[in-house]
Amino acid sequence: MTERVVIIGSGPAGWSAAIYAARANLNPLVIEGAITEDNRIRGTLPLGQLSMTTEVENYPGFPAGDLSPYLKSSLPEQNVPYRDPHMTGVTGPELMELMRQQARNFGTRIITDDVVSVDLSKKPFDLSLLQGEKISTHSLIIATGARANYLGLPSEDRYKNRGVSACAVCDGALPRFRNKPLVVIGGGDSAMEEASYLSKFASTVYLVHRRGEFRASKIMAQRVLDNPKIKVKWFSGVDEVLGDENRGVTGVRLRNLQDSTSEVIEATGMFCAIGHTPNTDFLAGQVQTDDKGYIVYSLPFRTNTSVDGVFAAGDVADSYYRQAITSAGTGCMAALDAERWLGSHGFH
Ligand code: NAP
Repeated sequence: MTERVVIIGSGPAGWSAAIYAARANLNPLVIEGAITEDNRIRGTLPLGQLSMTTEVENYPGFPAGDLSPYLKSSLPEQNVPYRDPHMTGVTGPELMELMRQQARNFGTRIITDDVVSVDLSKKPFDLSLLQGEKISTHSLIIATGARANYLGLPSEDRYKNRGVSACAVCDGALPRFRNKPLVVIGGGDSAMEEASYLSKFASTVYLVHRRGEFRASKIMAQRVLDNPKIKVKWFSGVDEVLGDENRGVTGVRLRNLQDSTSEVIEATGMFCAIGHTPNTDFLAGQVQTDDKGYIVYSLPFRTNTSVDGVFAAGDVADSYYRQAITSAGTGCMAALDAERWLGSHGFH
């Protein structure tokens, strides 16, 4: 059997594409990713990066607070939503489960596995899954997102999830980080955001940056510089994450990149905020990407890629906005583009 449309990825882009494709009677198949230790360590488990966050306060439609008086007074009775109006805001994991369920409600089929390789050189396209299954499809939507970068030190790997993290919002409130010194690496907006966020829990946040100026926006950088709990270590890099089996991370050994002097900082956590890498390895260069591996759209305001019949949505093609709402938006666009492409090629 040849599928009409397969969607790879299960973040906001993947599920939005599935909802639109299912409602267009395309009977979509979503390959949502495998639940493996490798994916856990790399941060590429099903449901994507949002499933690793807490409250999502900027996704439209989920305001926090008790909305019942407002909804009762402002809407005709038949329009008051079925959703519990007392439900307050939404968390990332909740939002992703709701999107997944919404896609299932319209008949989306789901396989919990990874796509390990593709052959896009012939039509229909072939996909090979981790557990050996082969799938053939006329059109493809790639919505595999991006993952956080780490420094790549062996000592860093040893302490992942035992003090080393790339997500302050996911892990920052854990007891091991409370009232203890912490280290954040990076000089971009993410590093500023993580350092400011962690300063609410930590005794001191050491912000380690390899240059003498931040790349971050002025306002976010200034907030960090004005925060008495954040100390910036300019021109510095981490040589080694220190720790032991029982306690996990206990500190980092820093190197001053100007004079090569070394310094040990005690800390119970190290947070990497040094950018993201798009999950495009499995494409093995068959779809055009930029120098960082992000898929390049071949037409303005369309989700077409360099391969006819292959569309992309979400962070895998966006190093700039990287928001749940923009991912969902491009997911919808990709489904509409795939539907029109299928129609124009006679695959109804
Ligand atoms: P980014 O802007 O690419 O910054 C990455 C930072 O990590 C840079 O300071 C870089 O140093 C440093 N870095 C990279 N590789 C490193 C390595 N191997 N060792 C040490 N340091 C390393 O990434 P980002 O901060 O994740 O931001 C990505 C995009 O999202 C940006 O457009 C940003 O504006 C946006 N964003 C916006 C917000 C917001 O407005 N609320 C929040 C987060 C992100 P160099 O500076 O020396 O290159």
